[in-house]
Amino acid sequence: MKLNLIRNIGPKTEKLLNKLNIYEGEDLLKYYPYRYNFINIITIDKASADLNYVTAFITSNIKVQYIKKNLNYLNFMAKSNNTIFKVVIFNRAFLKNNLTLNRKIVLVGKYDKLKNTFLANDIKFNIFQNTVEAIYHLTKGLKNNMFSKFIQEVLNNLDNVVDYIPNYLNEKYKLISKNSALEFIHFPKNQEEIKKARLKLIYEELFIYMFKINYLKNLNQRTIGIKREIDYSYIENFISELPFKLTEDQLKALKDIYEDMTSPKRMNRLLLGDVGSGKTIVAIIAILINYLAGYQSSFMAPTEILANQHYEVLINYFKDMGINICLLTGSLTKSQKEKMYQDIKNKKIDVVIGTHALLNEKLEFNNLGLVITDEQHRFGVNQRSILQNKGIKAIADVLYLSATPIPRTYALTIYGDLDISLIKTKPQKRGKVFTQIKTEKDIKEVLQKMLDEIKLGHQVFVVSPAIDEDEQNSLNSVIKLKEKLDIAFKNKVNIAIIHGKLKPKEKDEIMHEFQKKKIAILISTTVIEVGIDIPNASTMVIFNAERFGLATLHQLRGRIGRGNLDAYCYLISSDNTNARLKVMEESNDGFYISEKDFELRGPGDLFGIRQSGDMTFKIADLKRDFKILNQANIDVRNFIKEKQYNGNNIYKEIIKNINFLD
Ligand code: ADP
Ligand code: MG
Repeated sequence: MKLNLIRNIGPKTEKLLNKLNIYEGEDLLKYYPYRYNFINIITIDKASADLNYVTAFITSNIKVQYIKKNLNYLNFMAKSNNTIFKVVIFNRAFLKNNLTLNRKIVLVGKYDKLKNTFLANDIKFNIFQNTVEAIYHLTKGLKNNMFSKFIQEVLNNLDNVVDYIPNYLNEKYKLISKNSALEFIHFPKNQEEIKKARLKLIYEELFIYMFKINYLKNLNQRTIGIKREIDYSYIENFISELPFKLTEDQLKALKDIYEDMTSPKRMNRLLLGDVGSGKTIVAIIAILINYLAGYQSSFMAPTEILANQHYEVLINYFKDMGINICLLTGSLTKSQKEKMYQDIKNKKIDVVIGTHALLNEKLEFNNLGLVITDEQHRFGVNQRSILQNKGIKAIADVLYLSATPIPRTYALTIYGDLDISLIKTKPQKRGKVFTQIKTEKDIKEVLQKMLDEIKLGHQVFVVSPAIDEDEQNSLNSVIKLKEKLDIAFKNKVNIAIIHGKLKPKEKDEIMHEFQKKKIAILISTTVIEVGIDIPNASTMVIFNAERFGLATLHQLRGRIGRGNLDAYCYLISSDNTNARLKVMEESNDGFYISEKDFELRGPGDLFGIRQSGDMTFKIADLKRDFKILNQANIDVRNFIKEKQYNGNNIYKEIIKNINFLD
């Protein structure tokens, strides 16, 4: 149903609805209320000092008092259950003409028994029996009442809504029909109806989600990939010349990858490992395997800083090996890009490292055989599939790197379509990381520690949640901190700032200077959160630490303690009893922290993973509804196994947006 066919939706209202991502009638139906008002209508003898809905008759004339410009009040007498009482309501002078003698009304407000006065905040003229009001998150200009009416109209004109749950499952769980669910979720008569509607809609949403995941998995298992034949001694040789010994977990991950890449099965693998666990070198070896078999590789990173870092690391590792590497980012000029596109297409380039710029549709590969995405949770599923589809006949092997440690049960479900290699232990010989919560009163102590470390030739990260003051007054912004620290260190320490509003080139320059140890203290926003590797940085001071989620804090802290140095992390916060910060003090283990985060606040922040589109649920909540998710997963698997969906077009509909292969 088109929006403009709905009564009272004109162009202006349509625009407002679009703001809420509502473009047609069906979108209205899927815009679920976030809470309900249970309207229980009573007589005055049962009213209390809390919010009441009291039915009454008007028994006097209405007196209006205008106190000043924006302040007026009405008062009158009303009768309910044979009690006469006084009613007062502020700023409703405009209601005067509706309040006629003997009219039946419902008063919304609080009753003061001693004064026998009802202080109303609203008067309703059209509800006289108990009802439930659905309340929506709306935007300015849209009224809840009006919005409900739009939905009612769509519902009235609805014939058969698609129910994605097969009948046998509807029966098994005694789920109500989709039509009823939609009606009950928006216009429930009682709590029971809300419960039934929610169960149906949550289960359906998770069922569809797991259907997609399992479909992808099956599709992938059936897809023939590239079967490479290479001489493994090259790889062994390369590994033996590394400046360090690979850890058990790295070797195990490498074995998984090697097997995938040399088998006819297409690789679709997630390399999951905590920050600093050494994923990059594993990815580099995968690139080498791919190169030795004669194929091109792409390596995508979420930020320019990181793409740059990878580029330099690869150049260094692949020195004198004749491997041609290029760096493709948004800051190249148009002609530089065109030239690079040509070289890539003509296979003058073997490895392309870059940012989102790799997704440009003009970029064509000659024989892309391996697609690596670093910190994959930062990219959406759609973005990833674009790159995959640039592979030869779209069968390039795929490797995702992620440092988002998630509880294992979750990983299995939401990454159900991927094979997982886990790097659990970090390389040995690392210094320890000590973490302490400090209030601003202890700042002298922290400053002293910073100075001590700087004197030892080590470097310091200072992190702030804001760039400049006007963003949030109470925060220690990057700019403010720079002023404060310059004063504290009497301008004798070289301090620089870096944040997301700088141009990529400026950021790179600063990072370079920091890498070359020309900067002692780098004050930054979370732009340094991802992947940056500066082994000489030993100290991190995070201001307003309570502002950050655990996942972010853990990522940030992962920037220090990367060399052999002991490292110190100070979480500055006025709230030194904060449970999340305590977890940071307790542990450096990403998996432990993720479990705690999950306990404390659910998957929201943690699951920055797959956040684009397909991980944002309309009604389901992964933490709360985890049991349902697991059940839906089991049900979907059986459903697919028994090919129950064959020939049923509604399921084609679900997967049509997954342009995974075709
Ligand atoms: P992440 O998994 O967070 O991406 P990196 O791949 O950036 O971590 O590795 C962090 C640091 O550890 C790098 O400086 C890297 O050279 C080093 N490293 C990787 N593997 C080992 C190892 N087996 N032994 C010692 N250092 C290692
Ligand atoms: Mg990394």
